[in-house]
Amino acid sequence: MINGNTKLICLLGSPVAHSFSPYMHNAAFEKMEIDASYMAFDVKTEALETILLGLKTMSFIGCNVTSPHKLSIMPFLDEIDEKAKLIGAVNTVVNHDGHLKGYNTDVDGFIESFYQKQITLKDKKIAILGTGGASKAIAIGLLLEGVGHIDVFSRTLKKSKDFVEEVRLKGIYPKTYELLSDSKAYDIVVNCTPIGMHPYEGQTPLDPSRIGHDETVFYDLIYNPRETKFLELARKSGRETINGLDMLIFQGIYALKYWLPGINVDTMWHKEDVLEVLVANNVIEKNGVNDEV
Ligand code: NAP
Repeated sequence: MINGNTKLICLLGSPVAHSFSPYMHNAAFEKMEIDASYMAFDVKTEALETILLGLKTMSFIGCNVTSPHKLSIMPFLDEIDEKAKLIGAVNTVVNHDGHLKGYNTDVDGFIESFYQKQITLKDKKIAILGTGGASKAIAIGLLLEGVGHIDVFSRTLKKSKDFVEEVRLKGIYPKTYELLSDSKAYDIVVNCTPIGMHPYEGQTPLDPSRIGHDETVFYDLIYNPRETKFLELARKSGRETINGLDMLIFQGIYALKYWLPGINVDTMWHKEDVLEVLVANNVIEKNGVNDEV
């Protein structure tokens, strides 16, 4: 039962009706026997400042932030974690007695997907497809992990050049898809474009057999469908694949760790638990090719 002691957390975004987060976090609180509740609020940008003042002064222990507010929320926070500052986007906020601190657990979740599979990132050669907000977070996260080289692919050279300038870190280079001569050099290829999800189902941003080698890992940030054409083709050519559910699930687990610093979340709440909840609530399809549930 929600009562006067219940810790409150919410999601701020628009739209939020189909978000997985309330399912994931409310199930986590139940499993960990924590008196907390997670709600999703559809909020417009012009209301953000007022809403944050409200969260600060009420018993909210924090919030998640999703599209379109990951950047626009930043001026209203009291402090921003260094990594989130570098990325230029916040998806998790902790309320420390009226002091709001923002983090980016999207990138933590993405990197954790590799740790979980014991895939090392140091000195690896990476291809990132697309130049949107997700590409930027991932490029910065990978560079901070010590990857050797990133090529970022865009449909236009101007966009990939602008992207590289904006990232402002060493080791990242602009490319266009036309510049991709069949290349065996990439150890990891990440699809950060919407190609593969609605309305682009059944399409792939490129043919995985044209890029990488036998050990190359193919990662698609898309989680619906669980296996995109890009991942299907990679899997059928014997390559390792990871879908966007890993990033989504692990960003949620990192957020829980920030909100509940005294709780050992890692020992009580795992990827398999989240998949089970999402399948049980018909939020994702059963029997994803790459997952156990
Ligand atoms: P976005 O800004 O809408 O698009 C990313 C980039 O994709 C664009 O900058 C564009 O790059 C390229 N692109 C767009 N339409 C295209 C098309 N028709 N053909 C080829 N390339 C196209 O998206 P985002 O916010 O960065 O997110 C990217 C993907 O990651 C989305 O599918 C999103 O759902 C997913 N995502 C997943 C998670 C997770 O937790 N798993 C978290 C965040 C995002 P160019 O114009 O330079 O080619």
